[in-house]
Amino acid sequence: MGASADRRNGFRRWHVPPTDVRIVTSDGQSIPAHSTVLASSSSVLERMLDRSRILHILGVPHDSVVAFVRLLYSSRSTTSAREAREEMERHGMALLALSHAYRVRWLKRRCEAGLAAWLSAARAIDVLKLARLCDAPRLHQRCLRLVAEDFAAVQESEGWRFVQKHDPSLELEVLQFLQETAQRRKRWKRERADQAMYRQLSEAMDCLQHICTEGCTDVGPHNSRRPDNPCMSFNTCEGLQLHIRHFATCGRKLQEAGKTCTHCKRMWQLFRLHSSLCDQPASCRIPLCKQFKEKMQEEKVDKTWRLLAKKVAIARVMSSLANREVPQAVHKSWMRCRGRR
Ligand SMILES: [Zn+2]
Ligand SMILES: [Zn+2]
Ligand SMILES: [Zn+2]
Repeated sequence: MGASADRRNGFRRWHVPPTDVRIVTSDGQSIPAHSTVLASSSSVLERMLDRSRILHILGVPHDSVVAFVRLLYSSRSTTSAREAREEMERHGMALLALSHAYRVRWLKRRCEAGLAAWLSAARAIDVLKLARLCDAPRLHQRCLRLVAEDFAAVQESEGWRFVQKHDPSLELEVLQFLQETAQRRKRWKRERADQAMYRQLSEAMDCLQHICTEGCTDVGPHNSRRPDNPCMSFNTCEGLQLHIRHFATCGRKLQEAGKTCTHCKRMWQLFRLHSSLCDQPASCRIPLCKQFKEKMQEEKVDKTWRLLAKKVAIARVMSSLANREVPQAVHKSWMRCRGRR
């Protein structure tokens, strides 16, 4: 088809200038290229082109250099997800090394994201080493996290065996990360257990309040059942009622420390905790509230107890926030929002 035919069809054939650079790869093969494309893509290549029109890109397979040059030509233009995935699977590591060495930032970001997305236990250590060399902190963290998640599989990989034999510093880094992760998990677990305990105590404080003031069941002083408004913390409430009944009749509740029965001891602590949180001791109907308040004013309360009371108070606020009623307007707009999805 001639130029006039192209014009008639509404197309214009672009004139492609001849290539003026030769890229030589590790196996001696050449890739023809245009200096303008290479120089505009990479400042490193631009400086190399000032010295010579034959560039040596070594250390990675020929195919990977071809993929690198092809990407420089396509620049930021979008490739399909399938193409991108194939490119990353075949050349991802080499492309990361090349984009780092030749300072092609957009390609480096794409490689980091691609390698992180398709990371596997078998490749994790190799990619980790590369991420270290190429100054790719996010990819480095992603690799370490995967190693921690699936260390059993990583241990089977060729990469890990190599590190154990030849790279003690990386082995130490990985093992330290594993230890820190285990400690962090342990801490989180402990904190979660503590939070559950504070929530339980805050629930117990609420139940104590309504047992003794409103008469949640036959335990409270007013004995007014509330069939229209049943207690939402039935288990806690029931347990507390049993403890209160026991406390009222137990003959060992007033014995000196060490001899008090455990149920009574627990009840003493709950009454004391209530008193620490109560802001109306004068009119309060919870047993011993006033007495504990006076005792606390006379004697200095220890730090651990103060901290416990503070944590329970916070848990109480949090649970009241979580249980508050959502205003009608907010509820309606939320339902509208869900309907639009
Ligand atoms: Zn109750
Ligand atoms: Zn007892
Ligand atoms: Zn009170």
